[in-house]
Formats: sequence, structure tokens, C-alpha cells
Amino acid sequence: MTDSATTAELEQWVRTFATLIQDNKDDLTELDAAIGDADHGANMDRGLKAAVAALDEGAFTDPSALFTKVGMTLVSTVGGASGPLYGTLFLRFGGALPDTGPVTGAQLAAALRAGLDGVVTRGKAEAGDKTMFDALAPAVAALDRAVAADAPLGEMFAQARSAAEAGRDATIDMLARKGRASYLGERSVGHQDPGATSATLLIVAADEVF
Ligand code: ADP
Ligand code: MG
Repeated sequence: MTDSATTAELEQWVRTFATLIQDNKDDLTELDAAIGDADHGANMDRGLKAAVAALDEGAFTDPSALFTKVGMTLVSTVGGASGPLYGTLFLRFGGALPDTGPVTGAQLAAALRAGLDGVVTRGKAEAGDKTMFDALAPAVAALDRAVAADAPLGEMFAQARSAAEAGRDATIDMLARKGRASYLGERSVGHQDPGATSATLLIVAADEVF
């Protein structure tokens, strides 16, 4: 692996994410059954299947257009709280990427930071609220540190994966302050957040591809 990602590799990232969501669909639904309405696995699987179908339709040579397409597809197919949030993540990520590949690690890190900022603008989540933010924010911070240390792309995402997994695990002890789970108050404590779990799969997919 070199220090930049081709558009084909970026597309493979989305496809790998879709496969991981499909493989973990029942687990995501089970987590959402505990503190939500048991639809997160189905929501995400429907969205990522539609995104893969959109990718199958045309060959993308433009990283920005690729992720914009994915974001638009997720907004229109996922529903729930996570549809607009994941849609925004990918739309902002795509909007921040260049329109020709390959994309450098620094560009990917900056674009994911833009995507995370979009999630916060939309959902107002803060650290510790027990949401996807709690997995994504540490991952993006790890990417920034890896870029500053001149780490190669593979190393960047290995570190981001560890950070996302630790952030996801930390949601177990958190009290939910956003979304459906927040209605449970204290009873949300002791359960892993479904959105933090699916968001970790996005970073795991990147670690597998890069
Ligand atoms: P819904 O709650 O509408 O059924 P999903 O079950 O698909 O939607 O998604 C739930 C996940 O969405 C939660 O586990 C949480 O991670 C995430 N989420 C909910 N509200 C917010 C928010 N305001 N900001 C960030 N993430 C959120
Ligand atoms: Mg739900």
C-alpha cells in the first residue's frame, strides 16, 4: 500500500463497509433493541445495499462524486436518526475530497474531520453523549495524529481503528443524552451504542482496505 488511496480503493472501502454492516446486521439490531427500537441493523443494511447498487451502476473516477452519491443514497434510504447523520457524514466527506484521485492520507483525514463536523452540526452530539460521535471523534483524532507523525496510510487507519473500538466500548458505561436511547435515562447505562458500533465498522473497513 502506498501513501495515497485510488478512487477504486475508496470505492472498495464503501463496499467493505456494506459487507461488514450486512454481516453485523443482527448484532446492530440487538443493540438497538436494548436501548432503541431495534431497527439500526435493518436501517444501515438497507442504506448500504442501496449505496452498493448505485456504485454498481457507474464507474466512479471522481472521489468527491463517489462519496456524494453514497451520502445522497443514505439520506434517501436509511431513515431514522442515523439516515440524515450518516448521509451528512458522507456528503461532507465527499465535498471535502478532491475530484481526482489518488487521495493522500492527509486529505482523507481532513475530509473525515469535515464529515464529523457535519454530524455535530446536525445532531449536536458531544463527547460522552453515547452516540456514533464517541467512536468517530477518537478515530478522526487518531488520523490527525498519524498525519502529523507522517505515518503511512495503513498505519493511519490501524490507529484510527483502535481508537474507534475503544470509543465504541466506552459507550457501554455512558448515559445516553441524544436520540431515542436518551428517553431511557439511567437505563441506557450498560449497553453499547448501536450507532457507535456501526461507525466503528466504517473505520474497520478502512483498516481492511488500506
Ligand atoms: P433511530 O434512533 O431513529 O431508530 P437508528 O436506530 O438507525 O435511528 O440509529 C440510532 C443511532 O443514531 C444511535 O445509536 C446513535 O449512535 C445515533 N444518534 C442518534 N441521535 C444522534 C445525534 N443527535 N447525534 C449523533 N448520533 C446520534
Ligand atoms: Mg433505531
